[in-house]
Amino acid sequence: AKKVLTVGEILVEIVATTKGDGFGEPQPLIGPFPSGAPAIFIDQVGRLGTPAAIISRVGNDDFGRLNLDRLAADGVDVSGVEVAKGEVTGSAFVRYRPDGSRKFVYNIAHSATGRLVLTPAGEALLESCDHLHVMGTALSVSGLADVAREAIARIKARGGTLSFDPNLRREILETPGLRQALEEVLAHSDLFLPSGEEIYLFTEADDEAAAVAELLRRGVGEIVIKRGDRGASHFDAHGRTDVAPLWVDEVDPTGAGDCFGGAFVSLWLAGASPETALRYANAAGAHAVTEIGPMEGAATRDQLDALLGLTKG
Ligand code: ADP
Repeated sequence: AKKVLTVGEILVEIVATTKGDGFGEPQPLIGPFPSGAPAIFIDQVGRLGTPAAIISRVGNDDFGRLNLDRLAADGVDVSGVEVAKGEVTGSAFVRYRPDGSRKFVYNIAHSATGRLVLTPAGEALLESCDHLHVMGTALSVSGLADVAREAIARIKARGGTLSFDPNLRREILETPGLRQALEEVLAHSDLFLPSGEEIYLFTEADDEAAAVAELLRRGVGEIVIKRGDRGASHFDAHGRTDVAPLWVDEVDPTGAGDCFGGAFVSLWLAGASPETALRYANAAGAHAVTEIGPMEGAATRDQLDALLGLTKG
């Protein structure tokens, strides 16, 4: 089977258990949970039994171990994760506001992940993996961006495939040089996985169909638009496929898009039709929101089959 690689941040997430505006006063929290968008993505790939690996860096501390233990337990190859002595693993605190939006407090830039360099183990993964998944967040942290760019060049030179999830808020795009870096990734992408409005990040088009048509014309092979509790859509040269959201009880939306991506890439690489990959990804996104904690809702194939009503009786 083909092996999926990602490059990017590993951190822990601590979630406020009450809704409100932020962290200006003491309050009940739950966590730490393993997290980081690329980590969530690759954990979902591993849980589905698809060969998976991540290039990253964590501190020699409990937060780093929590992540490595989880990823390894779910079948992810963590040989490319450097454990940095005397450094700390990053963290993010999140609190949901009453309107469903989120307040984040990050400690990532000064964590071990922010000083990622390519190690011999990382080099070996670039030689042995077949597919690379890049997230915009990895390109917005300077230490990660160089490694991500190198990984893209090496995987593509070996004939591998690339998927790209921008996973960015518009404000971050104003970071000098970031837009250019993202445009370059997009130009090499076989699969582009934006969320909602992110379809407009790289085009002047003002309606979705025109934006999709332009990106396909520019050489992006396939596009999958994630639409939260409104489902998702797939587009390629042959046309458009939509999938309706599955009915679930949402308790924590963080990680849905990453689990969706992990499932889509797993099935896509295994040769499933776009319709099948989309249906499983939609189920993975739905499953993800049913558990508190960003990675806790990553699903096994059996769980997705059950959610899709495909379980043998
Ligand atoms: P992101 O986390 O990248 O913003 P979304 O919130 O769009 O991603 O979620 C990704 C996918 O997960 C959606 O396209 C959908 O398939 C599924 N999903 C997300 N939230 C729900 C929900 N409340 N009910 C059902 N499916 C959901």
